[in-house]
Amino acid sequence: MLTPHRNTGFAELAEFISDDFCPKGMITPCDIVEASGIGFSCGDYGNAFDGLLEHQYGKFHIYINANRLQHAYTPRARFTIAHELGHYFIDEHRNALKSGKAPSHPSFTNFQSSNIVEREADYFAASLLLPATRVKADVNRRKFNFNLLDELSKKYQTSLMSTAIRFADIGNHPIMVIFSKNGIIEWKWSSKDFPYYHLKNGNRVPETTVAGDFFATKSAFTGTDQIIADDWFQVWDNRYLQKFYEHCIPYAPLNCALSIVWED
Ligand SMILES: [Zn+2]
Repeated sequence: MLTPHRNTGFAELAEFISDDFCPKGMITPCDIVEASGIGFSCGDYGNAFDGLLEHQYGKFHIYINANRLQHAYTPRARFTIAHELGHYFIDEHRNALKSGKAPSHPSFTNFQSSNIVEREADYFAASLLLPATRVKADVNRRKFNFNLLDELSKKYQTSLMSTAIRFADIGNHPIMVIFSKNGIIEWKWSSKDFPYYHLKNGNRVPETTVAGDFFATKSAFTGTDQIIADDWFQVWDNRYLQKFYEHCIPYAPLNCALSIVWED
């Protein structure tokens, strides 16, 4: 099971860039690309990649695959462009590309890769599109529920997955984000002060969870459901009946599910 890589240094770098290029309103990665003098193409590249950063003849160029992302303004495309900007703005990534030590590599959105460099660029992208200061102001004094994440994802034009991951780091209520496929947990990400870290079934999705129900029945319950701590977590004390909520977003075509879990 993978645990997404954390690096607050990248988050700070990303937020600095957001504030510098897009001080007000929505973060527009295309404008950051243009203002940085990076070449940009959005075309049909089959299924080869979602995004790609190339360095040739002393110049950087970002390619976005319209075949997979529709156009440059969908949340996935915005994330992909922000990811490629991560490869450009993170010193080690840019220098590796510039020196020819690392070849241009195809990137796929999002948070699916086990490659550390990809994880760093994903983390940079989420931080760029959801700057901490702005998000914190939006959620200040708000009670957490799924609608709050939904609202943020619409306001910032980011996927629910990247919004939830970002919220886990900077939000005002501890949550855990669990991504599973074919009944197996691919990765989890949680707030530092989330009460439990150990899932009770190792990397298998427990049957009594909402995600577990989706894998067992293939019928997708969409909404927030009440569960107990013992459904997902290893609980050593008498708090196993503690009330939790799970909001599961299943994606039947790929047999995968994103669960957001929080304590009442
Ligand atoms: Zn990449």
